[in-house]
Amino acid sequence: MTDNTPNQSSAGMSRRDMLSVAGQAALMAAVPISMKVASAADASGAFTLPPLPYAENALDPVISANTMSFHYGKHHKAYVDNLNKAIAGTEFAGQSLEQIIAATYGKPERTGIYNNAAQDWNHTFYWKSLKPGGGGDPPAALKQKLEAAFGSLDAFRKELATAATTQFGSGWAWLVLDGGKLAVQKTGNADSPLVLGKKPLLTIDVWEHAYYLDYQNRRPDYASGVIDKLLNWDFAAENLASA
Ligand code: MN
Repeated sequence: MTDNTPNQSSAGMSRRDMLSVAGQAALMAAVPISMKVASAADASGAFTLPPLPYAENALDPVISANTMSFHYGKHHKAYVDNLNKAIAGTEFAGQSLEQIIAATYGKPERTGIYNNAAQDWNHTFYWKSLKPGGGGDPPAALKQKLEAAFGSLDAFRKELATAATTQFGSGWAWLVLDGGKLAVQKTGNADSPLVLGKKPLLTIDVWEHAYYLDYQNRRPDYASGVIDKLLNWDFAAENLASA
């Protein structure tokens, strides 16, 4: 809980100030080029819902087409639509998604824009973090780095599953690069490691809308299904290579 809500650090700096000092450059540097393209505004300046990288039924049975239809077609689309409405006529119209996220983070009067921009970014990243026939072993270089950081691949899987199941309420579980070292991170609501100056490599959405139609309250079953059968290690390796 405490990770999700405070606007003041113990040192008395606002989160916005802290981002200005340490986070903004890291945020822009952390975003892979492909993500910038995927989240670009169209010619009119409005953001568009990026295409899913696979069919809605491609992740079945771990994630059903029914869940995908609501999650992508309704929830993700609503974040994009609400973002476009919220930035129309403001200084944010025409900015990149990453610029909007960096500029609105920690500003109570900009919460609506921040939440929708960050959720658009997070979901685009989440779809790419999954693939049909995923899971299993990562490419060798990434596997070696995971073993160095967590002791073993199984220990990493357990830590990611624990982050996914213990995030209180809505949020996200991530594999991140933090100062050159791989780490697991959980964030609440729309927050992502980007605003904390860390580079996301993979994510799992643990909002109830991501799993409730298929698993009801069994978030651990959803998390283990995703980790064992859907994680897109190639995407994580690309993100690591571009770090
Ligand atoms: Mn979601």
